[in-house]
Amino acid sequence: RIPDKIFAVDDEDTRELLPRRRRDSHKGDYGRVLLVCGSRDYTGAPAFSARAAVRTGSGLVFLGVPASIHGIEAEKNDEAMVISLPEEEGKLSPGAVPVILEQLRGCDACLIGPGLGRSEGVSAAVRAVLETCRVPLVIDADGINALAGNIDIWKRNCPVILTPHEGEFQRLLGRPMKADRISQAREFAQASGCILILKGYRTVTALPDGRVYINTTGNPGMAKGGSGDVLSGMLVSLLGQGLSPERAAWGAVWLHGRAGDTTASEKGEYGMTPTDMIEAIPKATMQY
Ligand code: AMP
Ligand code: MG
Repeated sequence: RIPDKIFAVDDEDTRELLPRRRRDSHKGDYGRVLLVCGSRDYTGAPAFSARAAVRTGSGLVFLGVPASIHGIEAEKNDEAMVISLPEEEGKLSPGAVPVILEQLRGCDACLIGPGLGRSEGVSAAVRAVLETCRVPLVIDADGINALAGNIDIWKRNCPVILTPHEGEFQRLLGRPMKADRISQAREFAQASGCILILKGYRTVTALPDGRVYINTTGNPGMAKGGSGDVLSGMLVSLLGQGLSPERAAWGAVWLHGRAGDTTASEKGEYGMTPTDMIEAIPKATMQY
């Protein structure tokens, strides 16, 4: 195993994953995270990510969404602070950029992508965040689509974690995958300097130094729209709580699968939902 630098993530590795909460701590100690998500067509994704971040222990969750869905998201997310962003036809407009960058100041980690849809405003926002961000940044879903084929991920001043499923990964590469998942993920991480989480059965987490972690939790009940948004919310939460980007990456994947497994054992793989998985995060975090 070690010569290839390929590791399986199991219960042993994750025992001390979450930081112990000191008795005299306050919300500022558990991270302020900014999530930029959503569009008129996708109102579920922002809620999945934000609620997952809350359930993973974040001190403060800020959720930036296009103005027209502010009311919906405010209603869905009691614990998050929902911020209204400039939009055009239900998606972020270029005018959203300065508002997002202003919000980014003072945050400990950022997530951009879930449910944003595709537009020039969305691309402008993703690029601006990538160039300006100084804290760990997760790029998921339409955030990845916005970078596809024209990757500026080398121009950045922060750790970047990308969380594509295979379709998004191929769009990012601008071509079909030509080798196995492990080699492709590793090659991308090494070339880009980003951490790549290639999702699916046995999610692969590839680090820029060539190490690769294979996840052992999760089940096909998670193969449903919204599961990935839960993962990116959990991931940004762990980053905001100060875990190193690499531990946060393979740790979030493991914990997400664990929550999925608890849910499957209670509700079954057919009927379980991403919402059920979010409700199972507390139990998954108690096993330490
Ligand atoms: P997304 O496609 O962005 O919604 O992400 C789907 C999530 O569910 C990812 O975290 C996948 O790893 C997980 N998932 C999907 N199918 C499976 C499977 N067959 N086994 C384990 N995890 C899965
Ligand atoms: Mg997704």
